[in-house]
Amino acid sequence: MDQQDSGTHAPPRIDTGKPHPARMYDWFLGGKDNYPVDEALGRQLVGFAPGIPVMARMNRAFMHRATRWTAGQGVRQFLDIGTGIPTEPNLHQVAQGIAADARVVYCDNDPIVLVHAEALLRGTPEGVVDYVQADARDTAAIVERARETLDFERPVALSLIALLHFIGDEDGAYELVERLKDALTPGSYLVMSHLTPDFHPEEASKKVTDLYRAGGLTMDMRSRDRFARFFEGLEIVAPGIVAAEEWHPELGEPVPGQEGVHSGAYVAVARKV
Ligand code: SAH
Repeated sequence: MDQQDSGTHAPPRIDTGKPHPARMYDWFLGGKDNYPVDEALGRQLVGFAPGIPVMARMNRAFMHRATRWTAGQGVRQFLDIGTGIPTEPNLHQVAQGIAADARVVYCDNDPIVLVHAEALLRGTPEGVVDYVQADARDTAAIVERARETLDFERPVALSLIALLHFIGDEDGAYELVERLKDALTPGSYLVMSHLTPDFHPEEASKKVTDLYRAGGLTMDMRSRDRFARFFEGLEIVAPGIVAAEEWHPELGEPVPGQEGVHSGAYVAVARKV
């Protein structure tokens, strides 16, 4: 096991010379776990698209509502890949707020998330929270480690929230989702949100994509059809593929400032049958 595999070894190296998605997202959310490179690109993006911090909160609010919904369906096991830097409430806090015995496994590949993972690991005494440091494409390792906490013979809510636009087709985005779907038993759910160019002028999406790419990051905002492909073979639950703010808004509060802002993200929840 190398130091990327668990939180028990020497602290991982934080690369402060290049922006990282987890740290930029933390900056958008008003967090403190980011560096000047992240803030610099974040400021460029917000200078161009001032709605981004609210859009990030709208995405986060979808995660809260979808977690309430899946827990409400009786799901007690959660696998969240691309977790991000802890931001309260975290997924386990939402899930364990509904079912104290909920078992949650988090996974991210950014060393800064590993550094802060301790904050994710404080759950209820009845439940369990674990953290796996791995790349989303390394699905075999993720599932193997998650098995220490989750029983894959029973339903799992697998969440990939604001993750896959950072992974291109050529890097195996669809294949990794297929492998994870295969690991799930019927009655499990796939919960996803994903940036899309569909709701904003073409030049605006292109500019945002170019800024990320200039920062050395992958950014593939997918169209509705390309987003829908991730759900092949599953039953998408109502209200279907919609913008983040349109998915069961009654399960939470609107984000301050969201009126007139479009999340720019598709979301859906689907059941394995
Ligand atoms: N899911 C959280 C955070 C989204 S930010 C939320 O929606 O609030 C995207 C996260 O995906 C970052 O933490 C980033 O480090 C992680 N990520 C990006 N590419 C990844 C990969 N290949 N494997 C694992 N995690 C990845």
